[in-house]
Amino acid sequence: MKFDFTKTKTLKATLYFNNILIEQPIRSFIKSINQAEVFNRWLLLHRLVKYAKLIKDIDWDRTWKCFAFSSYNKQSETSFSESKIKAFKIKIMNNNLPVLENLKIRRPDLYGNGWTCISCRQENETQQHLWLCNNNQQMVKEIIEKCKKYISEKIKSLKHYNNKDHNINKILSDICWDPYYDEQKITFLDLINGIIPKSLTNNIYKITCCNESTTNITNIIMETIIINIYKDIWKPRCELVIQEEIKENITKRMKLKKENKKKKKEKIKKKRKDLDQSNPINETYLSISSWISWVDSWIKIGNQWEIYVS
Ligand SMILES: [Zn+2]
Repeated sequence: MKFDFTKTKTLKATLYFNNILIEQPIRSFIKSINQAEVFNRWLLLHRLVKYAKLIKDIDWDRTWKCFAFSSYNKQSETSFSESKIKAFKIKIMNNNLPVLENLKIRRPDLYGNGWTCISCRQENETQQHLWLCNNNQQMVKEIIEKCKKYISEKIKSLKHYNNKDHNINKILSDICWDPYYDEQKITFLDLINGIIPKSLTNNIYKITCCNESTTNITNIIMETIIINIYKDIWKPRCELVIQEEIKENITKRMKLKKENKKKKKEKIKKKRKDLDQSNPINETYLSISSWISWVDSWIKIGNQWEIYVS
């Protein structure tokens, strides 16, 4: 097919999605449907099966807003860059932090099975163990208290706040503040991953009666969590691992040395196989084309497609 663009002055095109006329700007519409499709594919990954299963319990709109939010680069008391925290957020959300259990898989030539949690020396260091390790529990508890204190103060400062409002107790006793792992529920471990449950935002909204204030509160809470987790747990852990590596004669150069090509190919092949096998598991909860119904509702009802993820 050829177009003669000198003769297209009067050519008009109309965009339809699922037989519905698109009235909004085409460029931003295409961008949004692309985001919805990428998100759909991401949620089908094997390691995210819990979130696919609990898709209806998660406030995806605010989860993404918090993911994109940052105010700390303006705060003088923090010494790490915005890009470092952003990279940390992405790794945590994808369960892809370079914890020792991941390093054992990536670099078995450097990290043998003898490597266990650098802090307790008892358990294998998975991402989950980092937040549950006995030696980090106090720190996690303090982060939770900090967040709860922020919410209480913020809510009590609202002009229309009523002392008899029991919703504040509902917010503070939500299971999302409990630091343990639960396959069926969104707990504090999921908040660390960046995932926000609807139970929390619904109860905050009941008091603020304002979407923007609710989002502002969740933005600050999630930022407080990620910065403190990074500063109080991840950074000190990395320093301890480096000391251990020095003892084991693992140099920076060895760590940077690329694995041989054959090994890398085998690993990619294995990863692809894992992904292929994982898709049917998550497809019990959503399909590869779920994004079409999210976008469809968005066009018909309005607001944003993230609201219709369910
Ligand atoms: Zn430990």
